This record gives sequence, structure tokens and C-alpha cells, in this order.
Amino acid sequence: MATCEHAVAAGGKTAPQQFEENNLSEAKRVIAVLSGKGGVGKSFVTGSLAVELARRGNKVGILDADITGPSIPKMLGMSGRHASGIGNLLLPEVSMTGIKVMSSNLLLANETDPVLWRGPVIAGAIRQFWSDTSWGPLDYLLVDMPPGTGDVALTVFQSLPVDGIVVVTSPQDLVSMIVAKAVNMADKMNVPILGIIENMSYITCPDCGKKIEVFGPSKLDEVAEGYGVKVLGRLPIDPALALACDAGAIEEALPSDLLPDAIAACEAVEPHEGEGASENA
Ligand code: ADP
Repeated sequence: MATCEHAVAAGGKTAPQQFEENNLSEAKRVIAVLSGKGGVGKSFVTGSLAVELARRGNKVGILDADITGPSIPKMLGMSGRHASGIGNLLLPEVSMTGIKVMSSNLLLANETDPVLWRGPVIAGAIRQFWSDTSWGPLDYLLVDMPPGTGDVALTVFQSLPVDGIVVVTSPQDLVSMIVAKAVNMADKMNVPILGIIENMSYITCPDCGKKIEVFGPSKLDEVAEGYGVKVLGRLPIDPALALACDAGAIEEALPSDLLPDAIAACEAVEPHEGEGASENA
């Protein structure tokens, strides 16, 4: 993992406020998935990347930092489950295909309870999910970020050693503004943006297979080029997949190789090799 004076000054990788990793965890790559606002499919993209990386034989975890709108456990069939503990550490829940998840949803008595936490409590939860959770060895830890590029997202970036950022937009977004904010945030944190995924980009006509851009032609390519950021893929609106996510069946329902460029970008992140963590869950 690179360190430099700039990172320290910006509150980046080696900043004192960064949370410590415990010795039962070793995440080789930490990749944050970010969006400009809620509802664009950030969690769906996080889940999809996790499923595909796990299918390729990687050990994958998802740290659900979307504390007030957690949707990862449900999509991975973990509704009603609760995280357990070992000593002082929490244990992530494990999905059908071995994806480890830590989420505020796994700590609530009822998954429909609202999470009305404010900034400092949210920061405390992120600390628990990173420092006080026994992840074991992971090839990839994906962080489902809180929506937006404001204070809460910034706190998460300052707290975790993020290696790369995937930005998710939808065609209704003010793409240019979101990309500008994401680029700014990434610069401040000295973390590279791996690229952008446009979700709900089009629908495919069920009769003739034609792609229809419901919200008009996408401006993503020109915006991405303007900021020197890669486009990592476009996903259609897929009602069957939305139903599968609702039913906790994304692992069975996700088409194979849905986001090849995004997966390649994750695989291209240099892994950090450490002391090694023992397998525990
Ligand atoms: P966010 O994390 O950005 O708030 P979610 O990933 O929770 O958004 O997605 C919001 C809703 O939209 C969910 O019900 C999800 O299943 C659905 N959804 C996301 N992407 C798609 C898609 N490409 N096609 C159909 N439904 C989608």
C-alpha cells in the first residue's frame, strides 16, 4: 500500500485517525463503491462484483458502510440473521457462496427497524466493522459506501485504507457533478478511481432485443473522458434481477460475466501482502 506525505496531510492512508486492522483480518485489497445519491444501485453493483469475484475463487467480504440504508444482507439471503461474536470480535455472516458480510442490519433486533444514527455513531459502527470484526484472510473487501460524497462518505474514506474507488451513476444523475465530486474526494484521499459504472442505463425490449435508452442518450463517455476516468460498464434495468435481489437470490440469479471491465479493474489493484490472518469463520 502506497504512503506519502500528501496522504498523511490529507488524512489519507497513514493518517492517525485511520482505524487499525486486527490480527485476525487481512484484506489484500479494499475497494469502495460510491454513488452520488441513494437508489442508483450502488449496493446492487457491490453485491454483483462480490458474487463475480467469489465465483472466480476469491475470498470476498462486504463491509456494509451504508449504515442507515443497509441492503447487502437481504440480497445475499441473510434476512433475519444476526452477527455472532468470538471474544471481543464480531464474526461476519457468510453467504451461500462464502461471501462474508458485516452490516448494521445484522446487529438489529428486526431488520425493518430504522437506523437513526448520526455521524459519530456511524463512525463508531464503521470502526466496529473494520477493527472489531474478525474477517480472516480476504482477497477483496468491498465497502458499500454511504450514499453521496458528503461528510459521512469522507469519514469512511478517512477511516479505512481504501485502495480504489468504483463510482456508480444512473442516467438520471447529474453525472458531471458526481464525477467531479468523486474525483475531488479521491484526490484528497490520494486513492485512485478505478472507473465508473452506469446502472439502469437502458432496457432491452423483450420482443426484439433492442436496447432502449429510457432517459435519452448517455453522457457518461464524454464526462468520463473529460475527467480522465474509465467507464467500467453499463447495466440494464433488469426487473428479474431486482426480484432476485429482493428474494435474497443474487448469487443464483446474477448472469455470468456481467461486468468484465469492472472485475478486471478490481483484479488490477495491487494486493498488499501482510503477516497473514488465520481462517476463523
Ligand atoms: P443504492 O445502494 O444506490 O441505494 P440499491 O442497490 O439498493 O441502491 O438499488 C435500489 C433498488 O433498485 C433495489 O431494489 C435494487 O434491487 C434495484 N436495482 C438496482 N439496480 C437495478 C437494475 N440494474 N435493474 C433493476 N433493478 C435494480
